[in-house]
Amino acid sequence: MFNLILFGPPGSGKGTQSEKLIAKYGLKHLSTGDLLRSEIANQTPLGVEAKKLMDKGQLVPDEVVIGMISSALDTNPEAKGFLFDGFPRTAAQAEALDKLLELKKTSIAVMLALNVTEEELVKRLMKRGETSGRSDDTNENVIRARITEYHNKTAVVADYYKNFDKVVMVKGEGTVNDIFSSLSAEIDTRI
Ligand code: ADP
Repeated sequence: MFNLILFGPPGSGKGTQSEKLIAKYGLKHLSTGDLLRSEIANQTPLGVEAKKLMDKGQLVPDEVVIGMISSALDTNPEAKGFLFDGFPRTAAQAEALDKLLELKKTSIAVMLALNVTEEELVKRLMKRGETSGRSDDTNENVIRARITEYHNKTAVVADYYKNFDKVVMVKGEGTVNDIFSSLSAEIDTRI
């Protein structure tokens, strides 16, 4: 199995690059943002609660996303590997993920971290808000709150994987194809 974390702040291009990477490498895409938005669309109790936090730019509780990831791992026993997008987002989530993967006798091969300046992030998210239908992309205060959550709670996740020498920084500005080539080159040396 080859398991990869695509890491970076909101708007760094994780979703765009994930689509291309899963097509190229045949990995199963696990995006907690997408899983939560599907709960919201289905108006499940979990979705209703999560939406309140997401609309404020705050993270949803660790147990909620860990539970979603745990069942996604169980329902995809045939996967060649997983691409984690938007998860783990806290140190507790990273520890839980390691344990879940250990139970399946596998682990994270690498974390690819997209590096993008804050001004570029805000610009991209505001632009995405014009068409994405995502309520958390239309308000600059919510966007800034998400970036603050990233600095306060999520950036440490990279430190966690740095301890295991698993982090590779990749330039997240330039054309979609250039960034895809850089990410692919890193995967090719490890897969
Ligand atoms: P972005 O990376 O653009 O912020 P996502 O689609 O990954 O978008 O996430 C949207 C929102 O969903 C986040 O702002 C957060 O509220 C919630 N969310 C997604 N993944 C997680 C997670 N792993 N832990 C907690 N909250 C999450």
